[in-house]
Amino acid sequence: MERENILPILYDLAVTIGGEISLKPLLTRTLQRLLYYTSYPAGFICLDVPACHGDSEVSARIDAAVGDYDLVGQTGRRIMLPCSLLCGTAARETGKAELLSTLTNTHIRYKTFLRLPIDGSGVIVLLAPETPATEQPLTQIFQPVLAHLDKAITLCRSNDAYTSGLISERNLLAEVYASSYSGVLITDADGKIIEVNPAFTRITGYPLDEVRGKNPHVLSSGQHDHFFFQEMWDDIENNGHWQGEIWNRRKNGEIFPEWLSINPVRDKNGQPTNYVGMFSDISQRKEAEAKIHQLAFYDPLTQLPNRRLLLAHLPQTFSASVRTGSYGAVMLFDIDHFKTLNDTKGHEVGDLLLVEVAKRLNACIRNGDMVVRLGGDEFIVVLETLSPNPAEAATKAGQIAEKMRDALNQPFALQEYTHFTTPSIGVVLFRGHQDTVDNLLKYADTAMYQAKTSGRNAIRFYDPAMQAAIEARADLEGALRQALKQDQFRLHYQIQMDSLRRPTGAEVLLRWEHPGRGLVSPLQFIPLAEETGLIVPIGLWVLKVACTQLKKWQDDVALRNLSLAVNVSAKQLRQADFVAQVQRTLQETGARPACLKLELTESTVLENVDDTIAKMRELKLHGVSFSMDDFGTGYSSLQYLKRLPLDQLKIDQSFVRDLATDPNDAAIVQAIIAMSQALGLNVIAEGVETETQREFLDQHGCHNFQGYLFGKPLPLAQFEQLAQQAK
Ligand code: C2E
Ligand code: MG
Ligand code: MG
Repeated sequence: MERENILPILYDLAVTIGGEISLKPLLTRTLQRLLYYTSYPAGFICLDVPACHGDSEVSARIDAAVGDYDLVGQTGRRIMLPCSLLCGTAARETGKAELLSTLTNTHIRYKTFLRLPIDGSGVIVLLAPETPATEQPLTQIFQPVLAHLDKAITLCRSNDAYTSGLISERNLLAEVYASSYSGVLITDADGKIIEVNPAFTRITGYPLDEVRGKNPHVLSSGQHDHFFFQEMWDDIENNGHWQGEIWNRRKNGEIFPEWLSINPVRDKNGQPTNYVGMFSDISQRKEAEAKIHQLAFYDPLTQLPNRRLLLAHLPQTFSASVRTGSYGAVMLFDIDHFKTLNDTKGHEVGDLLLVEVAKRLNACIRNGDMVVRLGGDEFIVVLETLSPNPAEAATKAGQIAEKMRDALNQPFALQEYTHFTTPSIGVVLFRGHQDTVDNLLKYADTAMYQAKTSGRNAIRFYDPAMQAAIEARADLEGALRQALKQDQFRLHYQIQMDSLRRPTGAEVLLRWEHPGRGLVSPLQFIPLAEETGLIVPIGLWVLKVACTQLKKWQDDVALRNLSLAVNVSAKQLRQADFVAQVQRTLQETGARPACLKLELTESTVLENVDDTIAKMRELKLHGVSFSMDDFGTGYSSLQYLKRLPLDQLKIDQSFVRDLATDPNDAAIVQAIIAMSQALGLNVIAEGVETETQREFLDQHGCHNFQGYLFGKPLPLAQFEQLAQQAK
């Protein structure tokens, strides 16, 4: 090839390369050109060669073939070739019978070939019909061309990858744009719509034709003022971006929420050329959110806010109260005897009442106040901003509570029933964050409980002293539950004597040795034990200790005739197996029943007179006797007194105390003594502290005494000593 001929060849090659995008056609056409210019009867094949290893054979594919028609016809064929033939650097091979013989069905007999590996993934083979006289001409001829070719291939490859990258990217974007779930809207710099995607049309109902050239305001719902849009554009200008929730209007007029983000597209100078808005319709998500919110924060029966919402709302209310400096109130409503309605008329009717109550309470509140169903038959009303003055706030809260109570006092039509109901209302005032939500609700509960115990249909305000007492009681209760297990109870014995100062017995009085508090008075813990029912096991313990003691004294001459008076509380007496328990205790300890005296109070007896009488009778049959404790402080009605199988009346210490100074008390004591004589009952006075008192009692016919004058309640050993000395 002449030197001056090279240039047009290269020019043509450049044009060829420039017009091709991918490698294969490029190669083919380049080599075609090459052969065309040289008119050399050679051929080329491009082989696709998999990785070669050692001298094993590989199957290579003829990817492209250039040259005579026969060779072109081989395209696509697979030929088995030894690796050694294909691997390695460019080389001229001659006499490679293996390769050349595979191509024998061509009319030209190729005798030699030149191997040119490209990029490690393929091999170009130049086939020549004759072995060149010298090696020089063939390689020399092709060397510069091949060098260019190599460059061209590399260039083409990267261009190829880049272009196909671009194409796929563009395709991808187009695909995303068209199939996007989000609506896309593109405007020009003036904000006029120039493009929308299918999702835009699906969501808004507007095809491109109807919005092209228009301002996106065509979608405006009218729900946002111009400040909203002002801020939006400020954001886009300053931060290059805006996103947020916005209400728009569909073509059919429906207003819907969307999540919109707007980005400007800028030119080299930073001037916006376009704005791209992307949005998604969030109405379904909002509906789902609303549903979840409804389920989480509202009571399904009454549709009122529930406890969770109250807990979330109260801190905000407190903060508002800080700002206004005003007191607010939390009121707890409990429907009196709701359980009875539920039990007698069924839950459906109960539910109807709750729904009606919710409506009536809601009708009484002002804007900003809140009615909450706490659960069951409990409702909370939160009143905001009553007054900066606590007294005035309390008055206002009281008035609203009364209004609500009156509303609930009106008859309810529940199915075919007309139902009357009353609430118990506890009110607590708050200002700012002075109290925690928990405490506030606890206080409202305390006040409500107070309203309940004061006879229901009542309104009570929370009082801190009341709360302190309740908390102390709760502590005490916890400790009391442990007391029996931890053996903290003791019995003290208070001696009882007759006119001749002979000991007749003792009253056993319970003592609680609390590890932290020391001795706790029974006046403090007995009522609590009563309420909690703990008095039942405690009372049994007292009875057992007393009976065990009686048995122990039986062999002691000085003590064997002493009786022990044991206090029995109402709860104990009401136990169905009370009689059996006393009998069993007597049997188990071996104490003589005649020495056991049970003290009952009037109120205990009166709770259920018939039951009491039956139990007393049964126990009396076994020899147990009964004393009426604190006599005179209760009803003291002769009517029932006559029916009770009593043995003794115990004049209450309150009458004994002022016997000498209060003629009224003296008269009462005399009357009690007369009554006991009339009924044929023994009489004893408790709380006898002075000789004057003793003398008066003795003179008027009471010859049995108990009191500090004779001895205080004492631990066993000291009592035994006292009893033995007195003998
Ligand atoms: P009570 O049965 O009327 O017991 C008499 C109370 O008067 C005792 O108080 C006793 O210490 C006190 N007392 C006795 N003599 C005098 C005196 O001369 N002056 C004064 N000021 N007080 C005197 P205590 O021991 O504090 O018991 C109080 C109440 O606790 C008892 O009243 C009784 O109702 C109850 N209680 C005590 N032990 C038991 C028990 O084992 N079971 C039950 N159910 N209640 C008990
Ligand atoms: Mg007593
Ligand atoms: Mg008493």
